[in-house]
Amino acid sequence: MTANELFAKCAEIAQNPRAQMDKYLAQGKKVVLTAPYYAPEEIVDSMGAVPMGVWGADMELNDSKKFFPTFICSIVQGIVELGINHVYDGASAIIMPMLCDSLKGAGQNFKAAVPSIPFIPMTYPQNRFADFGAKYCKANYLTVISELEKALATEFDEAKLAGSIKVFNDHNQAMREFAEVAAMHPEVTAQQRSDVFKSAMFMTKAEHTAIVRQLIDAIKAQEPGKGRIPVYVSGILTDSPELNAIFDSCGLHIVMDDVAAQSRAYRTDAPVEGAPLDCLVKKFQNTGNDSVLYDPLKKHVDLVPDQAKQYGAKGVIFVLTKFCDPEEFDYPLIKKACDAAGIPSVQIEIDRQMVRYEQARTILEAFIDVLS
Ligand code: SF4
Repeated sequence: MTANELFAKCAEIAQNPRAQMDKYLAQGKKVVLTAPYYAPEEIVDSMGAVPMGVWGADMELNDSKKFFPTFICSIVQGIVELGINHVYDGASAIIMPMLCDSLKGAGQNFKAAVPSIPFIPMTYPQNRFADFGAKYCKANYLTVISELEKALATEFDEAKLAGSIKVFNDHNQAMREFAEVAAMHPEVTAQQRSDVFKSAMFMTKAEHTAIVRQLIDAIKAQEPGKGRIPVYVSGILTDSPELNAIFDSCGLHIVMDDVAAQSRAYRTDAPVEGAPLDCLVKKFQNTGNDSVLYDPLKKHVDLVPDQAKQYGAKGVIFVLTKFCDPEEFDYPLIKKACDAAGIPSVQIEIDRQMVRYEQARTILEAFIDVLS
């Protein structure tokens, strides 16, 4: 298959997650929904179910507003809205990690609003570096396992987890390699790049790895395109087709990202030596450079200008999800770090309920004038 055919396949899956879910259910598989961030999907996979990411959708929020104040981000409200509207029917459970204040409330709201889908909280330790943090993390993984055993009517087997860890590490590696190859090929559009990352949420990791590896080879076989402006993107979510169309029509080429729904999710592998559940704990301890994770040294702040320089970006675009406190706390520091490094940066604010992105277009067009 050509690169464009493989991109089209990713786009189809990214745009139709329900069709994917129906396909898995028809095959007799069970599906477990995984909310942001860092849900232990390896555990779900090892128990024979398909983990499917839920990040809300671009839509108007209605019923979920009965459960949330207006200043809660549209991602978590969207998850509850879709649950109320039966979009997730057939799922065996939802795992929701509690890594920000919005997610803490969202879990309880989901439980009340969507009683047909068992809600499984994953409570991560704030201080994940200390031994007590590791113990706390493991205890909560064990709680998730025990709830999954009930929801899936199956038993957890740690030996199978070792196999799933390898599958996920392999997928992480493929996704990192895809990002590197896309950085070298300006003809890869923002929309295509987004579709590859988004489709990963709705497929088994083994299936997605196979597609991404074919795609990497197909892109490498192409002559790299020319004439687009290299930029670095940071934020939580950048999957809106309208936003990606603006990036593409403005001639921007994303050379690397620090986006939670994209590269942030694939930076860290689980070690493979030792007891598999401990390896998963170690993976969480080793994960960093993310606004939602405790980081006394704020390494995330320097990562953005460092990577922007490393990949030859002319500027940094910070895509702020409206009402996201963790990102709002990091943004001024990241901007300062970009200024100090001499890298122009700009912020655009997005929301899953937005229908018009023209303000973002105006900001980006003005930013391009600065970069030229
Ligand atoms: S976008 Fe921000 S507020 Fe919303 S779930 Fe993510 S971290 Fe929490």
